Amino acid sequence: MKPWTRWLGWLGLFGLGMLFLLVSRLPGEPEAEPPLLETRLLMGTLVSISTWGVEEKQAEAAMEQAFAEMSRIEGMMSRFIPTSPVSGLNDAPRGAFHTVPAELISVVSKGLEIGQLSGGAFDIGLGPLSDLWGFSREPPPETPPAPDALKKWREERDRTPGPGIELASDNRLRLTGPAIGLDLGGIAKGYAVERAMEMLRQAGVVNALINAGGDMRIAGSKGGKPWHIGLRDPRKPDGVVAVMDLTGSKALATSGDYERFFMADGVRYHHILDPKQGGSSRSGLMAVSIQAADSLTADALSTAVFVLGESAGLALLQQFPGCEALLIREDGQMVQTPGFVATRSKTP
Ligand code: AMP
Ligand code: MG
Repeated sequence: MKPWTRWLGWLGLFGLGMLFLLVSRLPGEPEAEPPLLETRLLMGTLVSISTWGVEEKQAEAAMEQAFAEMSRIEGMMSRFIPTSPVSGLNDAPRGAFHTVPAELISVVSKGLEIGQLSGGAFDIGLGPLSDLWGFSREPPPETPPAPDALKKWREERDRTPGPGIELASDNRLRLTGPAIGLDLGGIAKGYAVERAMEMLRQAGVVNALINAGGDMRIAGSKGGKPWHIGLRDPRKPDGVVAVMDLTGSKALATSGDYERFFMADGVRYHHILDPKQGGSSRSGLMAVSIQAADSLTADALSTAVFVLGESAGLALLQQFPGCEALLIREDGQMVQTPGFVATRSKTP
């Protein structure tokens, strides 16, 4: 195995949800003092936080606050936690306005904005469709939903104009039809990671890396050396298709058809849904990675660009200056925007 693919051993234990791999060091580079690392199961994925350059007690307290913040946001934005405001909204009769936390309004607003710019490809109102497919269920599904159920959803969705989510003053929000339900799975993790990094910063940690499945946030460096991040091969869990050396304040998110999926009759069904088709997106891509200034934007855009596909996806990115992308086509070919930072990238 080449030295640059010598990632932290334990990461290999957790296949699901690991779209990034931490690569230990580049060839010829001296070993730096290792970062402090802590991992928890949160938001349906393994979240790890690495900090560097802060003494252990301070780092541990900071990490505790960062994990607590992510857990708080999960408690507000998860549709799987019955007491969350999102569940409250989803379970309530349609049509009436509900008062929700201002934070939820701001994430929903951002989701609606990207939904509009993507022509509806990014759709935070597709909760009932996600429920039909059930990719978040345990055990995961093995067959597609019944065609009748999908047809019923389609007919109901077509009766509801626009995104089916309306905002009003004083933090009020309503869902306008039975085919609409909030699913913030494509954006809330990015928000949570962004907030977690802010918690670390407030606690005096300036060098850190947060890895939450498909969402990664970097601050500072690892003893003056960049954080090395490997991007997973979409078809080989222990293969790496790109290595990035990142320093400073940066976000990186990946959406892939290999994170939650099942195969049926030789067809891959995965969790990124095309609201127009009512099923897994078939846009010709296996993975999309976005580099951006913040995790919320990177998270939402990686999902949106995945659904739009190469041509419309890259056009959407033009509206987000400073955001860069690496796309992996279904044939394995990779496409990068000129500003995407990668030390090495090779077609799998
Ligand atoms: P990500 O892994 O960030 O691409 O997000 C995938 C998750 O976002 C899924 O598990 C769903 O919860 C949700 N999702 C799926 N399809 C879409 C879509 N077209 N627009 C917005 N969210 C979606
Ligand atoms: Mg996303």
